[in-house]
Amino acid sequence: LQARLVVADRLASVGTLGAGVAHEINNPLAYMLVNLHLIREGLEKLEAQGAPSQPVASIQQLVRETTEGAERIATIVRDLKVFARGEQESRPMPVDVRRSVELACKMADNVIRHRARLVTEFEPVPAVEASEARLCQVFLNLLLNAAQAIPEDPSSVTEHEIRAIIRPGEPGKVVVEVRDTGVGMTPEVLGRIFDPFFTTKAVGVGTGLGLSICHGIVESMGGSIHAESTPGQGSTFRVVLRSAAHEVDPYPRLSATAPAGAR
Ligand code: ADP
Ligand code: MG
Repeated sequence: LQARLVVADRLASVGTLGAGVAHEINNPLAYMLVNLHLIREGLEKLEAQGAPSQPVASIQQLVRETTEGAERIATIVRDLKVFARGEQESRPMPVDVRRSVELACKMADNVIRHRARLVTEFEPVPAVEASEARLCQVFLNLLLNAAQAIPEDPSSVTEHEIRAIIRPGEPGKVVVEVRDTGVGMTPEVLGRIFDPFFTTKAVGVGTGLGLSICHGIVESMGGSIHAESTPGQGSTFRVVLRSAAHEVDPYPRLSATAPAGAR
């Protein structure tokens, strides 16, 4: 069986994706918030008319919590719109990749531990040019996908492995790989994985947004993301990042550029 390499360069960026998602979510969200407001008002009227205060109070609490949740979604949508307009407020800075990967591993641990052993292989690498929160989101997405490619079965844990690897790449590059021994992907699936909303998972399990967001994030950092897979054997996702600029040499070798007659 032949592994296939997919280079995701022509595909949707977080920009177009963000705009689409924001539009789709904004309308239903707006009427949810209006309805919640009306429900709150209705409850106040009921209370004023002498309705039993205990059930009213507990409904008010539910409405408050639901409103908070809806407002949180509104914030996320706003962020997506910001990204869509290219107004990134989180400026790239030197980030320790190992820390991001470790944090993502910790966040994914609950899902991974029922399905596979998590093995880490971290070589020393320079810092990369990135936004730490976004980078962590990329690795979390890759780890969760890897876990979801492995059946949740008591015997899985002994049979399957998810491997997170950090190693130096070509000069000026850092490579992070997430490998799994899960179901793998056919060439047809592999060719579409970075498309927004492409998913092979059940409704409610997958949105098909994870990898297109990963792709957009990595590209915005000047990096790249590739996938290879063999059906029935597993998949490898490889993220290549730019290492952060090194310290400026305090003693630039002026003599190298000085005219020959100057010395
Ligand atoms: P979602 O996880 O919501 O389906 P993603 O964009 O993260 O969306 O992934 C898109 C699709 O790519 C998945 O539905 C699955 O078919 C495939 N995929 C991604 N990662 C893996 C993996 N590690 N192993 C097998 N298939 C994968
Ligand atoms: Mg996913």
